[in-house]
Amino acid sequence: MDTSVLVINCGSSSIKYALVLEDPAQPRLAGLAECLGSSDARLKGTASNGEPFEQSLPGADHGLALEAILDRLEGRLPLAVGHRIVHGGEHFTRAALIDDDVIAAIEQTTALAPLHNPANLAGVAATRRLFPDLPQVAVFDTAFHQTLPPRAYRYALSEALYRDHAIRRYGFHGTSHAYVSQRADTLSGLEGGGWLTAHLGNGCSTCAVWKGQSRDTSMGLTPLEGVAMGTRSGDVDPGLHAHLARQLGWSLERIDEVLNRHSGLLGLSGLTNDMRELEAAAAQGHQGAAIAVEVFCYRIAKSLAALSCALPRLDGLIFTGGIGENSAEVRERVVALLPHFGLQLNRTANSDTVRGREGRIDAGGRQLWVIPTDEEGQIASETRQRLKQETTA
Ligand code: AMP
Repeated sequence: MDTSVLVINCGSSSIKYALVLEDPAQPRLAGLAECLGSSDARLKGTASNGEPFEQSLPGADHGLALEAILDRLEGRLPLAVGHRIVHGGEHFTRAALIDDDVIAAIEQTTALAPLHNPANLAGVAATRRLFPDLPQVAVFDTAFHQTLPPRAYRYALSEALYRDHAIRRYGFHGTSHAYVSQRADTLSGLEGGGWLTAHLGNGCSTCAVWKGQSRDTSMGLTPLEGVAMGTRSGDVDPGLHAHLARQLGWSLERIDEVLNRHSGLLGLSGLTNDMRELEAAAAQGHQGAAIAVEVFCYRIAKSLAALSCALPRLDGLIFTGGIGENSAEVRERVVALLPHFGLQLNRTANSDTVRGREGRIDAGGRQLWVIPTDEEGQIASETRQRLKQETTA
């Protein structure tokens, strides 16, 4: 029997997929359908022999793209489909086997993720049509953070806003923080260590993990809260919205757009959200790039320092995500900003640990790890776990 899991991550106009085999060392059939709904729609990916492919799918919707993906699975029929679902609200504390009730519960959280959850559900509907006999499992970005205590998830707002409108901190990137902290537990031999994790990609968040559970995290009601990101501002004074509306006459839509798409590294530098380009430009004397990198690193260090309050004991720091895995400079700067943590960076190991390499980069003291994230592998493993629980129940 095929024990692979097809992992699907549906956006509003894209589908990311990966066929994950039980042995994580085996190569994956993976790819991306993008520009769905337009004449430019296409599917690109890698076949099992490592050969890349690209196929044009003019006008294809999610359903047609999934059929094209199915054709690229080289005749393999997965054991199950694992779906990445962005928001599970308070309802989902772990992965769920999808049925009509689960879909209705996900629909109820749509107000909390109006862009993401409907796209995720469109993927679920199309996949259920295409594979009516395969079990489908929903794996939530928020579920790992459902262990936050009230002091970490409540905003200092009225009880009514929490009770009647579900306004609280949820946190995101849960699969990534879960994966890297579990991996650090295994690699370090510290079963259930106290870790601070920094997922630094285009979206960035930090998390405090104690004995395998999230105790606090930087993102909140939405993925805009927390550290500065590629194009997202992260934390700003909550009075900023009213100020921009009153002083500049900006609409809510414009404020939302500016904070989500034109801020962060891009806004600060006036140049790009790509850390590689920023590091190069800063080295050439570009002032905007220099301040962008400086603010980015300072905000991460500040967030990690704040999150350390959530841990009874700190065993180490973990870097992951496109920037966390590749930028030795960002790691060095963040570590340098936390002298009171007793961290000692091994500079050689730090500069050697790039391009998806896993490694320890400290020279004694508390542990410093670079762990390439594997959200697809984690979704596949949570899908398998959920199915096992279902069959043993
Ligand atoms: P992700 O969202 O995890 O794919 O991360 C994307 C980000 O990783 C991009 O914005 C790049 O700035 C960053 N990145 C990728 N490679 C490097 C690198 N070699 N050095 C610095 N940043 C990198």
